[in-house]
Amino acid sequence: MHLPKAELHLHIEGTLEPELAFTLAARNGVELPYADTEQLRTAYLFDDLQSFLDLYYALMTVLRTEDDFTELADAYLARAAAQGVRHAEIFFDPQAHTARGVEIGTVIEGLGRALEASEEKHGVSTQLIMCFLRDESAESALATLRAAEPYLHRISAVGLDSAEVGHPPAKFREVYEAAAALGLRKVAHAGEEGPPAYIREALDVLGVERVDHGLRCMEDPELVARLVADRVPLTLCPLSNVRLRAVGVLEEHPLPAMMDAGLLCTVNSDDPAYFGGYVGDTFHAVHEALGLDREQLRTLARNSFEAAFLDHDEERRARYLAEVEAYEFD
Ligand SMILES: [Zn+2]
Repeated sequence: MHLPKAELHLHIEGTLEPELAFTLAARNGVELPYADTEQLRTAYLFDDLQSFLDLYYALMTVLRTEDDFTELADAYLARAAAQGVRHAEIFFDPQAHTARGVEIGTVIEGLGRALEASEEKHGVSTQLIMCFLRDESAESALATLRAAEPYLHRISAVGLDSAEVGHPPAKFREVYEAAAALGLRKVAHAGEEGPPAYIREALDVLGVERVDHGLRCMEDPELVARLVADRVPLTLCPLSNVRLRAVGVLEEHPLPAMMDAGLLCTVNSDDPAYFGGYVGDTFHAVHEALGLDREQLRTLARNSFEAAFLDHDEERRARYLAEVEAYEFD
């Protein structure tokens, strides 16, 4: 739980807990179709992707003002800090907000305020990764990138998320080229429900430096060999895989096999309010269900800092890695 770690796969919209949802709904005059937090908590026990997405987008309507986004991010950072997170690279989905009339500047400035205060307030350094919804058009992604240009000082990288199948990475070649030209780094969800070919495309066509999920690389030994040789980090989310049925039960998760294969695996929480735990909870769960021992957990923590976008601050990376090595399990 308290092992120092970085979180590299976390959707800020997926950290909205029922209590905060009701607080923001009341403040903004939004009617939620749930009587109370108890009933909403029950709705979080969905059992398929569609009911998750329905709930996810319905709840997002409570986020309206800069302050709302600041509170959301601040609440996540407080929770993350309590679970050993020292560095967080946080995804957000601008199109999910602009589509319902919230300005992109409201989203980025609101999140940015929480992030810039985070190191002093929570002891967590941060970066922001802007994701495009892959089930929306490439034109919409490009328009989103253009709209974000006045706020690029707050953004480190672009990503690609939402429903994967039928929306291959190559669809977003142009917007990734434009993002790189603006100096942004690149990641993408690939190989969660989509085939290994989507992972290859993310690498070859989009030029991503990290693959989010990447679970299904295990079906393609040549791809595994390449990911190992090139030290391409994978941001795995074991609790999410179970809740969204990519894996039957946690005990069957391929994480140990992936580590044995030499892949640079990291463990993350994805949408923790919805998937049953934050990243410390996830470390605890893989320890219990998969029998990962302390040194394997330490390896996962070390990997998380090696995979972090800290190239501009190697001194910080070295400091975090030293904390991992010095950590004593209790
Ligand atoms: Zn994700």
